Amino acid sequence: MPLDLLGTTAAGLAAAARAWFGAGQGAGAAPALHRAALREGTFAPERHGLGPRAAARWRELAALHLPEVAAEAAEPGPHGPVHKRLLRLADGNTVESVQLPMGRGRTSLCVSTQVGCARGCTFCETGRRGLLRNLSAGEIAAQVTLAHRARRPDTIVFMGTGEPLDNFDSLRQALAVLTDRRGLGYAQDRLTVCTIGHVPGLRALRGLGWKRLGLALSLNAADDALRARLMPHGARYPLAEIQRALVDYRQRANLALGVHWCLLPGINDSAADAAGVAAFCAPLGRVLVHVIPYNPGTAPIARAPTDAEVAGFVARLRSRGLAVRRRITKGRTVMAGCGQLGGAPRPPLSGPSPT
Ligand code: SF4
Repeated sequence: MPLDLLGTTAAGLAAAARAWFGAGQGAGAAPALHRAALREGTFAPERHGLGPRAAARWRELAALHLPEVAAEAAEPGPHGPVHKRLLRLADGNTVESVQLPMGRGRTSLCVSTQVGCARGCTFCETGRRGLLRNLSAGEIAAQVTLAHRARRPDTIVFMGTGEPLDNFDSLRQALAVLTDRRGLGYAQDRLTVCTIGHVPGLRALRGLGWKRLGLALSLNAADDALRARLMPHGARYPLAEIQRALVDYRQRANLALGVHWCLLPGINDSAADAAGVAAFCAPLGRVLVHVIPYNPGTAPIARAPTDAEVAGFVARLRSRGLAVRRRITKGRTVMAGCGQLGGAPRPPLSGPSPT
């Protein structure tokens, strides 16, 4: 099978090229081919000074699998549009990625790591779909390359469809590709992995020794009973165990661990819930709690919280000494908000625009 250029680091491609071509002319093109694949989404060996035979050999040995942009939707906002892409993979499956304006001209790209998800969180459209398959490292990196062709995202968050740590090998390789300075060159602290609290995965991630990598926990309930109700397959790991794994994870003093709280009115917005968040976070060092107003999808389990309800919960958390960021709802009208990926678009996605 040809080597997937988007799932390979520059060093990996150089080593493969040496094995294919020996000291021959073809191997020298590896860095330029790698750069063009990752940064431009192109694979044209003829353009890199290769003769026809070497170029043909490259085409036998390596391939660029850039997904087709099957549809796109955008929701205007004060800092720019939320841009959702529906990507068709080589086997016909689809995944989504969302580029979000972050203010001051910066954007963040939310990428998927699986087609569907096995975790079944009740507030999430993807969870209702079940797991179809894992994405390869190249399919994860391809989402960044596609976005990059239009506009380089400043940060990458692994918060699209799927639990990233359920697909650890692909995640690890995708992180290596994205941080490769000879490719897209993201600094580790521009990347954030978001997990529901996959304890073995957290330990494996720590084992990589990537001290500057961002990490976020999707918490949503501060007691195991409510968590089992909201996140039935995430509750396999008790909160005490997740907390221990997070304490052990901390690899640098100034890591600001993200703790995500999808605010569901009447379900997890009481004073006791706020106290539970504070107790959970107490031993974790520096934490930033992101309060994310629930986005009702196609089978809502609650209504969206009002502004006053969100402000009230944020105030409760702050009164307990927590640093809190209130997430502004983005992309809800095009089903690009948190928890809405994998659901039906609303309104229908348009055809692709040229990138
Ligand atoms: S919230 Fe994340 S882990 Fe839970 S079902 Fe959705 S994609 Fe999977």
